Order: sequence, then C-alpha cells, then structure tokens
Amino acid sequence: MSGQEQLYIKEAFEQNWIAPLGPNVDNFEREVAMYTGTEDAAAVSSGTAAIHLALRLLGVESGDTVFCSSLTFIASANPILYQGAEPVFIDSEPDTWNMSPDALERALSEAERLPKAVIVVNLYGQSAKMDEIMSICDRYGVSVIEDAAESLGAEYKGKKSGSFGKYGIFSFNGNKIITTSGGGMLVSNDTEALRKARFLATQARDPAPHYQHSEQGYNYRMSNILAGIGRAQLEVLEERVAARRAVFNRYFSAFNEIEGFTFMPEMDGTKHNRWLTTLIIEAEKVGFTPAELINRLAEHNIEARPVWKPLHLQPLFKNVKYYPHTEEDSVSEKLFEKGICLPSGSNLTIEQQEKVIFIIKEIISK
Ligand SMILES: *Cc1c(COP(=O)(O)O)cnc(C)c1O
Repeated sequence: MSGQEQLYIKEAFEQNWIAPLGPNVDNFEREVAMYTGTEDAAAVSSGTAAIHLALRLLGVESGDTVFCSSLTFIASANPILYQGAEPVFIDSEPDTWNMSPDALERALSEAERLPKAVIVVNLYGQSAKMDEIMSICDRYGVSVIEDAAESLGAEYKGKKSGSFGKYGIFSFNGNKIITTSGGGMLVSNDTEALRKARFLATQARDPAPHYQHSEQGYNYRMSNILAGIGRAQLEVLEERVAARRAVFNRYFSAFNEIEGFTFMPEMDGTKHNRWLTTLIIEAEKVGFTPAELINRLAEHNIEARPVWKPLHLQPLFKNVKYYPHTEEDSVSEKLFEKGICLPSGSNLTIEQQEKVIFIIKEIISK
C-alpha cells in the first residue's frame, strides 16, 4: 500500500458510500481509461470476471472456439469454459515469450470454423507482438482480447499495454503490480459495449422497477471501498514499475555474464514492466536445474517459482488442440522446463536482493 488508500476509504465511509458502486468506482474507471488511453473502463471484481465479460460481449457460446496463449495462468482460459466454449492453445515465440504470430496464423488457416475471439496474454509484463497479432486477426476478422493482467504500466510502441485489442483486461489481485486486494478492469474504445458489460455485471437487471431480467447476468462489480484503494494505487503505478525494473536491473547486472542464464527479453520498441524477473537456466551449462535452485533458495526462506505451466499440458485441458511455434519447436514447453521467477516485489530492499544474489552466486560457484 502507498499510504494514500486510507484517504479514499475515509471519504467513502464519510459519505456512507460503501457499496455497491459509488464515486470511487466512477473515478477509478475514468482514471484507468485515461491512463491506458482507452475510451472507457468498467471496474469489476476480478481480472477473470473481466475476461468472462469480454467473451460474453463477443457472443462466445457453446460450440464456439476461442484461441488463447498457452503459456499463462489458468485464469486466462477458465472463462472460455464458463461459456461452454472450447479453447485452442497457441504457443509462445522466443522474442517476447508471448503468443507466436506464426502459430496463430497456422491455427487460423487450419481452423474448420474461425474462433470467436483470440485471448493474447502479455506475460510477466512484456507485451506480445501486437502489430503482427492484430494484423493477422484483422485479416481473419477475429476479435482480440488482450489479457494485460500482468502488464499494467507496460508499453508497446508508445501505447499502453492493454489498449490494443477490442477489449483489454487488468487484474488488481494481491500479487499484481498494483492491487485492490482483489479486482479487475475491462477497457475498450467501445463505450456502448462497456455499458452492456456493467449491465451484465450487475445481474443484467432490466430498466423496470420490479426486478425484471431477460438475460443471464453476474455479480461482478467492484465495491466503492476497493475502488478507493485502486485510485491510490494507480497514483503510485509508475513508481512500482520503476521499482520492478530496478529489481530486474540488479539481477541482470549480477548474472548477465553467467553462461547458461538468459533473462526474459524486452523487445525493441516495448517497455516491460518487469512485474516478475524471469530467466532461463540451462542445467547443462550451470550444473543445476531451476527446480534445484528453487529448493536451495527455499532453504534460506527465499521464495522463487517456476514459470507458468503451459495450459496445453494441464490435466484440465488434456484433449485440447495446441499449435506449437513451429512443427518441431514448442517454445512454451522449453520455457516451462528451464524458466524461473526470482523474488521481484516492489518493496524488496536492496539488502534483501543482495542476499538473494549472494546465495545464487554461491550455488553457481559450487
Ligand atoms: C492474475 C491473472 C489473471 C486473473 O486475474 P484475477 O484478478 O486474479 O482474476 C488473468 N490472467 C493472467 C495472465 C493473470 O496473471
């Protein structure tokens, strides 16, 4: 927390405007839309809810397919199942670790029926190759949902991450770069669609005094208290991005020279928010696997984690179609096998980080 959150919460209490909705929600929506350079934003209870609403707005239903990045957190794809639709997973490419335009093109060209949507994830705060992906999807007339849950504050060619697709989504879950404890945002230039999103998110109540409903809705809106936290958090977003990038830079200086350590790239023309510092470790070269390093760090009460397990490898999705980067090369599988996320919190002190670096250096030297 930044400390300013209490101000907005206090205001809400003084106005006795706790829930549902209220002025903090309206302001938070406006501020996020301004920040991302989109026409409109709808505050919701989670990033997952925002993805679900985007799928609903695009008319995804049973019998449809939706393409989705494979290397991501399960929340990117679960809403496809909520709609009874079928996911198809698309591999990563090496420059950004995000959706491979080649695999996407192949999947679209081979599709019996075009997908209703493509969910593109900006992993760990690095934007996907949005120019290529948007141009392919435009050519096929398929809408893009940009899962920017991890990339708030990142940029692609001077524009904010999350502002490229028909819909963009952000998460304010506790682990993200800024948080409302739990929450999300759906952004778009289509204000009419976001009006519909707000309607669906408040139980799809028709404009009648007697609680009438013609469509299935959800209880997905953000409370006025949490939006107050979000407003104060948004004020420190740039600081948080700077802090995360500084953490990355310190790891980079320490280990860039190590043969067998390769950091997740920051593609030219993009600004990575470095939500998590991630790298690849080649066990043949350094003599230990990422899993062994995670265990060694854990002995010192330091938490490091593996890279997301690709969704096409998840038991939940065992019969789902998957398009690798090339016929011979599955990039996400390699990233899963060799990748590691190092401690990257915005509040990590230099001393704490030096301790992590010292211990890793010790492991390398042995
Ligand atoms: C966190 C996350 C989400 C979901 O956000 P919640 O607010 O936790 O529902 C979706 N996609 C990705 C890539 C995420 O990291």
